[in-house]
Amino acid sequence: MNKWSVEIWRLILVAAIASLVGWIVGYFLITLFLALFALLIFHLRHLSELENWLNEGNPNHPPDVWGVWGNIYFNVYHLQKRYVARKKKLASIVKQFKQSTAAMPDGAVVLGAGGEIAWFNTPASNLLGLKSPQDIGQRLVNLVRDPSFLDYVCGEDFCESLELESPVNHELTLSLKICPYGHKQRLLLVRDVTQLQKLERVRTDFVSNISHELRTPLTVLKGCVETIEMGEMPQQWKKPMALIAEQSLRMEQLVNDLLLLSRVESGISVERRPAFDMPSLIYQVIEEMSHYKQDKGHHFRCEIDPELYLAGNENEIRSVLTNLLSNAVNYSFDGCDILVRWYGNEDGKFFEVQDSGDGILPEDIPRLTERFFRVDVARSRKTGGTGLGLAIVHHVLDGHQAKLSIESMVGEGSTFRCHFTCKY
Ligand code: ADP
Repeated sequence: MNKWSVEIWRLILVAAIASLVGWIVGYFLITLFLALFALLIFHLRHLSELENWLNEGNPNHPPDVWGVWGNIYFNVYHLQKRYVARKKKLASIVKQFKQSTAAMPDGAVVLGAGGEIAWFNTPASNLLGLKSPQDIGQRLVNLVRDPSFLDYVCGEDFCESLELESPVNHELTLSLKICPYGHKQRLLLVRDVTQLQKLERVRTDFVSNISHELRTPLTVLKGCVETIEMGEMPQQWKKPMALIAEQSLRMEQLVNDLLLLSRVESGISVERRPAFDMPSLIYQVIEEMSHYKQDKGHHFRCEIDPELYLAGNENEIRSVLTNLLSNAVNYSFDGCDILVRWYGNEDGKFFEVQDSGDGILPEDIPRLTERFFRVDVARSRKTGGTGLGLAIVHHVLDGHQAKLSIESMVGEGSTFRCHFTCKY
């Protein structure tokens, strides 16, 4: 039988015996009251013993008690044992987590909903100069005082990482990335990218220097070829000379593109002017394009907002327009229509070039802005392409807080869209 049923039967039995004795001795109510009072005292004593036993903090075996109280002691004892085992397991997980994050070369900082520091590991304290336990609970933006970091933390877009000088050591460059999780919790990952940045600088310097060095011999070569071509020369020399002239022109184009790319990549570009007349620039580039590629007979259709100016580097933007428009001409059939649009809305300003040419396979689209990537190498060479055009476009747009998006269908054509997020 269930322990509670036994307890109820015991209560009924006590009340029945007390009633019987009370009826015999003639004090029915008093006897019944005394018997129930004794039962109440009995339960109160057990309740107080249970409280003492729990207050011991780490109770050993439960006292040997019969009835329903034995049941309660047994259940509480097992609950406590399960709780202690779970606590030990959690403590060991936390210990392992702390050891593994301390062994990580990257810093990790857990931020609460209000941007306050909940926890950080040793590399984070070395790279950001955080101190434990003083800085726990402090807002991170109050400790790392940098406007770009404030914008990054307060923003919503954490797809990109932020590069920042370390607040402890000015020679270190840090890359910071926020990973949101849970309910408004964020994990900030901090990585030392000083070496990577140095390597990247060495690489761009190398490309830029070698391009500069190649310029002089190329100019000499071109000059010599022109002089020879102007004079009398045997018939059998004419073809090779024309080939040398053509290839040195190609090399010159390549060197110029490499120099432009390393300049826009390193951010060393001509002073940025406040706002320039973008509609006029577009018409100028279209005019040049129609002149140079007139044999191809393309028709440019323009939908251009005449009052929409753009803040930025006009020379760099000119190279973006030239690259996109010459690609539209080179990779579409002769005589095709090319739609050029320049418009603005609440999301920013957009420059679009839409052709009805070859189109690009979906798997090639993400690779188009890589240096020297060509879908069709032979065709690119034939049209005088260097494979650097879209890489230049990508870097120039990057420097203007703009993005390039590409939509294309094989056999139907492509749309290259530059999205400038600035509102001025
Ligand atoms: P390239 O100097 O070879 O034109 P780009 O970097 O400008 O180099 O372009 C890379 C490649 O992307 C090109 O070789 C071409 O295969 C492809 N491409 C670029 N624009 C278009 C377009 N409008 N239509 C089809 N393919 C294109």
